[in-house]
Amino acid sequence: MKTPVHEEENVQQINYNKLFEGIRGFKTNEHIPRKEFYAQLSQHQNPHTLFIGCSDSRVIPNLVTGTIPGELFVVRNIGNFVPFYDRRSETFVATSAVIEYAVKQLQVTNIVVCGHSNCGGCAALYNSEKEMKQLPHTKKWLELAAPVKKIVEEKIAKNIISVEERAAYTEKMNVVVQISHLMKYPYIRKLVKQGELTIMGWYYDIEEGEIYSYDKELKRFVRVE
Ligand SMILES: [Zn+2]
Repeated sequence: MKTPVHEEENVQQINYNKLFEGIRGFKTNEHIPRKEFYAQLSQHQNPHTLFIGCSDSRVIPNLVTGTIPGELFVVRNIGNFVPFYDRRSETFVATSAVIEYAVKQLQVTNIVVCGHSNCGGCAALYNSEKEMKQLPHTKKWLELAAPVKKIVEEKIAKNIISVEERAAYTEKMNVVVQISHLMKYPYIRKLVKQGELTIMGWYYDIEEGEIYSYDKELKRFVRVE
């Protein structure tokens, strides 16, 4: 059943007002009491970590890491993907430019690739051509996770994982694959080898409020204590 037009307008008005009340609240409750901090912050940024997360509205990097403005340099996109490295590439450059700027210019010392539970981007990998017809740019973007889909489908075909496990397995495998994309960036590989850059793969379980970190040796995600 379709919502009557006047009700839709009300909801829109409430959400609209909420944004502006939020702005006023930020100024009164956060900015004014911490005026000195913001005055200092306004001069420069020196983030220690590049956070590559999903655009999902439930994934809030500063909230889950307890960090404050100035600490995280963030790029969020559908599925927390990392473009394939190609120096001359003219596609997917929004995310590649953030990675380049964070590492070369801001010299962050950590990169986090953070996946999450119930990721719509990962689920969309299994959508039909017809379902994706209305989303041509999303369809193109999802090409960055084609290797993930291939790995997962092979595991299902070999009965290593069940169809029920597919969603969570895809979300976790996606983090591992996106890190492998990162390691193909020559300047990243070099810094990691020199011990000047740490790369972490995380999985955020929204319902449990837990973050799991990928352990390269154990080849699995371990809960961060
Ligand atoms: Zn997501």
